[in-house]
Amino acid sequence: MANVTTIEATGNRNLQLLARELADASLDHERSTWMSMYVDLDPMEFATVPDRAACIASALDEAARTAPDSSWGELLADLRRAFALGHHDIDGARGLLVYSSDPAEATIVKLPCVVDQHVAFDSSVHVRPLVEALPGDRWCVLLVNRRSTRILLGDSGAFEELTRFTDDVEGQHSMGGWSQARFERNIEEQAQRHIRETLALVEQLHQGGQWQHLLVAAPDELHAYIQGSMPDQSKRDFVRWISCDVENAETSEIVARAKECITAYERDGMLRALSILEQNAGQNRRAALGIDATLRALNEQRVDTVLIAEGFRRPGAICDHGDWLAPGSSACPVHGRRMRPAADVVEAAIESAVRAGSKIVTVLRHEEGDMGLDSREFQRLTDMGQIAAITRFELDDTAVPDAWE
Ligand SMILES: [Zn+2]
Repeated sequence: MANVTTIEATGNRNLQLLARELADASLDHERSTWMSMYVDLDPMEFATVPDRAACIASALDEAARTAPDSSWGELLADLRRAFALGHHDIDGARGLLVYSSDPAEATIVKLPCVVDQHVAFDSSVHVRPLVEALPGDRWCVLLVNRRSTRILLGDSGAFEELTRFTDDVEGQHSMGGWSQARFERNIEEQAQRHIRETLALVEQLHQGGQWQHLLVAAPDELHAYIQGSMPDQSKRDFVRWISCDVENAETSEIVARAKECITAYERDGMLRALSILEQNAGQNRRAALGIDATLRALNEQRVDTVLIAEGFRRPGAICDHGDWLAPGSSACPVHGRRMRPAADVVEAAIESAVRAGSKIVTVLRHEEGDMGLDSREFQRLTDMGQIAAITRFELDDTAVPDAWE
């Protein structure tokens, strides 16, 4: 029986670390073959136990079909048997990654994000499906009025309500012989205290790394006070107001509103990167267009952001040490060795970008819900060679200025 370990990756930071570890792991095991098997368990599509079992069977079938030799047969049969018997706990997973560099063992990663099915036997663990599925930054949704607070935390994948509380602001029973004016002032003070305490809690979560972007729902007349009382760090990462009934809105309604905002924000980020790339390319600086130039920039470790058209793949060559990528077979200038062919050098490019900590932006072919024409952004990137990079500096930047000569 193969030795199979199940681990759970939660939260964006952990997933990014996982991608980084996998990209590094391939370098440590030169020349060995890695199996990567991604299983799509999207609960919106595959809700029942038989549905999920069919997804796993489909990925295992693909692995059995594409395995490079018979040494993988036993591991795949073991996995098939164990999944069928429910031996591996995959409850709550929206996707799975099963990887292995040795048919005697395998690791199953429970993923909190939905991934496309993808099976590969290659010289590295494929990280592209994981990178493309990363849920992005964490968001805080704050709903607050004079007496009630609700705080939700999450990302483009999932949200949860962290807390919900109501302060007794009205104070009906303590009115005593107060004048109406004093009573109203007292309510105001209590409401302000409630809001300030709420904002302090939200800031505390921010400092603790629980969120990076903020959405707030509140009655219009409180906007100015909230903005004025918000700690500077929270204010910096405040994105926008949303309209939701603070006390009565269903969680599902709030989450739907938040996800619209996140989609728009992430799309803006992609458009910004595309604009910077076009601007740089126009000025002939800090841009690498097309596979040749992008691989060169990655080899030289000067990539800030790499943009990749969805689905773009290209054969190429990789040095056995994983440190040099090229569009065609040639020799690695570091090791002087002939490089081996790679079925998809774009996968290797993404691993290299993950190792270097570069930002990776996938430009989708279609807008959500629109399966017709290619999106304008996809077309713009296609015009620049389907893969391109915003670079940190030019090699020429190191030239000595004229005045020094
Ligand atoms: Zn090399």
